[in-house]
Amino acid sequence: MPAPGGVPLLVRLPNWLGDLVLAWPVVSAAAVGPVVFVGPAAFETLVRSRFPRATYLGWSRARRYALLGAIRRARPCAALLLTDSLSSALLVALAGVPQRIGYAAEGRSLLLTHRVPRPAPARTTARAAEYRRLADAAGLAMGAVEPRLDATESERRAAAGALGERRGGEGGADRYVVVAPGAAYGPAKQWGGPRFGEAAAALAAPRGWRVVVVGASADRPEAVAAVAGATARGAEAIDVTGRTDLGALTGLLAGASLVLTNDSGVMHLAAALRRPTVAVFGSTNPVWTSSAAPWVANLYAGYPCSPCYRRTCAIGYGCLRAVDVAQAVEAGERLLA
Ligand code: SF4
Repeated sequence: MPAPGGVPLLVRLPNWLGDLVLAWPVVSAAAVGPVVFVGPAAFETLVRSRFPRATYLGWSRARRYALLGAIRRARPCAALLLTDSLSSALLVALAGVPQRIGYAAEGRSLLLTHRVPRPAPARTTARAAEYRRLADAAGLAMGAVEPRLDATESERRAAAGALGERRGGEGGADRYVVVAPGAAYGPAKQWGGPRFGEAAAALAAPRGWRVVVVGASADRPEAVAAVAGATARGAEAIDVTGRTDLGALTGLLAGASLVLTNDSGVMHLAAALRRPTVAVFGSTNPVWTSSAAPWVANLYAGYPCSPCYRRTCAIGYGCLRAVDVAQAVEAGERLLA
């Protein structure tokens, strides 16, 4: 469908890092031809470093319709919406994009010219498979559904800078376990810094590896708790929260011997980078967003009220507390073996 005579396809990227990674095979397929990506400004570095010929228009929630003029000037023949929001459909409709492809959601059906039927109720099908249906509807030739990424040289250098060290040496001192105790979604996805710290120390200390705690500045309290938990159990731990952009984070994850994380963007990025990853689920559903890769261990307690998809919990976060440290350590050991 898209790109007759070099006319670009517009792809509205997801707003969450994890969803962007799950949609990566669609992004790669779209980038084979002329394409305009519209997505959060923070994702531009990840996309542009891999697809330098693509146009990237940075979108922000605060200025939802600021890109109208830029989209009109790009004159895309079609817009493929990887988001479910009304505002994303409205943006491309107002910009006059003639074909608008997406799932009917949030009362936006009338704004779409191609309403893609969902195979099942939302959140009951793997997100990656949902993206594939959208790519098929747009006529994109996708390969595998599973996202795969490799860190660029500059991302690895940025990671080394964040660690403040040379890379590539021999022995345990250059190896590390990444811990990501945050989740932008909310506390109902956060297993807790102390548990992460304890589990990471049990896996890292006997091997002489370090623990590296990553996240945004907002994750600092959980990171401090994770570092305290790890050091109390004999591991060397450093906190780089708030000191890595997406490129440095990608490089850090690519160099990790093991990643311990919540169901978050870090989980999806680590899985796509093919790093052994232990992921803890709380209020969300692993059927919808987990990675099926053999190097990922998904820990989900199947608590009676889960998945509820809440960001906070009024009844004590039992779904997260039901996953204990020993399970995470055992899963990590299994992956390392
Ligand atoms: S309501 Fe249940 S599933 Fe939801 S966050 Fe609380 S314990 Fe977890």
